[in-house]
Amino acid sequence: MIPYGRQTISESDIQAVVDVLHSDWLTQGPAVPRFEKAVADYCGADYAVAVGSATSALHLACLALDVGEGDIVWTSPNTFVASANCARYCGAKIDFVDIDPFTYNISTEALKAKLTEAASTGKLPKVLISVHFAGQPCDMAVLHELSIKYGFRIIEDASHAIGATYLSELIGSGRYSDITVFSFHPVKIITTGEGGMALTNKPELAERMSRLRSHGITRDARQMDTEIEGAWYYQQIDLGYNYRMTDIQAALGFSQLQRLNRFLHSRRSLASRYNFLLCGLELILPHQFHDRDSSWHLYVIGWNEERSGISRAEAFHRLRENGIGVNVHYIPVHLQPYYRQFGFKPGQFPNSEAYYSRAISLPIFPGLTEERQDWIVGKLSEMLAR
Ligand SMILES: *Cc1c(COP(=O)(O)O)cnc(C)c1O
Repeated sequence: MIPYGRQTISESDIQAVVDVLHSDWLTQGPAVPRFEKAVADYCGADYAVAVGSATSALHLACLALDVGEGDIVWTSPNTFVASANCARYCGAKIDFVDIDPFTYNISTEALKAKLTEAASTGKLPKVLISVHFAGQPCDMAVLHELSIKYGFRIIEDASHAIGATYLSELIGSGRYSDITVFSFHPVKIITTGEGGMALTNKPELAERMSRLRSHGITRDARQMDTEIEGAWYYQQIDLGYNYRMTDIQAALGFSQLQRLNRFLHSRRSLASRYNFLLCGLELILPHQFHDRDSSWHLYVIGWNEERSGISRAEAFHRLRENGIGVNVHYIPVHLQPYYRQFGFKPGQFPNSEAYYSRAISLPIFPGLTEERQDWIVGKLSEMLAR
């Protein structure tokens, strides 16, 4: 089965991990800050906090922004459940903003309308978690402007989007948001096995997140309420977690980062090949804006049931039967049983539901050869030829 996404591991990645295993440190040692600095420098951010997953980075980001009970957090329904769950971990209420039918990102029109209404009913969000779906950045300048007008904070869930640019600037620079989160899960752009990172330009947020990543403990005298009692001394200031990244993961991540631009280049050329090869077929192809450059974590086609006479489920099944590991991203989060218990219903976010009913993610990852891509396109053409 050709998967929809997978890691690309080189001999130098393997050597980097082996080197850590021979060293004095296995968990958070020198490789973690080296990886953090390399990602922060790459993106143009001041601070980076590496953790065990993007899910824990999202949780720490919410905590650092003081999200708690009684607060409201908004995100996109077209995302992985983790973008909403992080707010629930903090006891906040979650609500969704419907997507734009072309980019599948949060619709700025829907957002404006929802903010106007929320301002009149006193239900404005404390935080908006914007998701750069498939690697195409959201309209960050607009979101940023609205955040100032309505007084909310922004977390970018950039799990798909390391290396993506918006107005010629890399995602993660933090120009338009408080915190940006990356995922290093194996299907994402670069991997550490499991792993994530939170980037920010605000020292107080970075300090808070790094403390919370390790039990809420500090060894920094400036953060303590008494004198240091000796070299052993530390204080627990907050209720934190063990969300640390290991040196094994960080060494792999650092090594992968050296090839990030190559990975992005492969993904972008596979995406333009798909665009070119599929454009004559009865499919909805991904729409890209010219002021931003996607990192192409996903290549999603919209299946046209009416034109093809084949249901999306049947098309999905036939592709899988042919060894093409297609997937669907995403089942709208508000339709998950866990979220329905808060009163969310089908029909509430119609664009994300309509999108979901058509979506099929085709394989895209640096190790996908053009021959195999041609073969995938051939199977699609056969199914659509009538
Ligand atoms: C993968 C993903 C996450 C979670 O990442 P983990 O590193 O697996 O915790 C969160 N949000 C989005 C949009 C994702 O795609």
